[in-house]
Amino acid sequence: MHTINLDGRNIPVGKIACIGRNYAEHIKELGNKTPDKPVVFIKPPSSIVDSGGTVVIPAYSSNCHHEIELAVLIGRNAKEVSTEKALDYVSGYGVALDLTLRDVQNTQKEKGLPWEIAKAFDTSCPLSAFVGTDQVADPQNLQLKLTVNGQVRQDGNSSDMMRTVAELIAAVSSYFILEAGDILLTGTPAGVGKIMSGDQLEATIEKVGRLQVSVE
Ligand code: ZN
Repeated sequence: MHTINLDGRNIPVGKIACIGRNYAEHIKELGNKTPDKPVVFIKPPSSIVDSGGTVVIPAYSSNCHHEIELAVLIGRNAKEVSTEKALDYVSGYGVALDLTLRDVQNTQKEKGLPWEIAKAFDTSCPLSAFVGTDQVADPQNLQLKLTVNGQVRQDGNSSDMMRTVAELIAAVSSYFILEAGDILLTGTPAGVGKIMSGDQLEATIEKVGRLQVSVE
């Protein structure tokens, strides 16, 4: 059982639904097209590693990228919810890294194959402790910052999301249910890049929290 901490309580985590290509500058830096519908994929709860833990890059990749993302904790079951009501289903926010084996993902993309072997590996989802929604008045105005060995790599703002948290919950819940304890990752701003053995990663989101992991 994988749990996260919300205001001192341990919450069992279900699936982690992730959004690709939700910041225009990040789409540009990877040379991708802007999607007309959200790009959705899932990481299993076994991919979670807590802050203070260690990331292990699988031997089948030589290009693991960091992606800092705002993580949204679903508080009650959401199926086909409207954008207007969507934030009522949120119970907290956290800091996540969507670690991605970019070389493996590129090969999968070329072949038209699913991304899981690039996205769902063990330790691919470092997560911070979460804070309640009362701490985050506006999820669309939060500064996200990621440093590697003290050097700033990503420094963006959730105001630059192409689809808001509410719009994402509405869209994803039209494809499949988001259950209490599920987590939604909302895409990454520009500045993604390679991490290597021995690196120290620190991710912070204003008002939300801080996450620190080292790479084995
Ligand atoms: Zn991502």
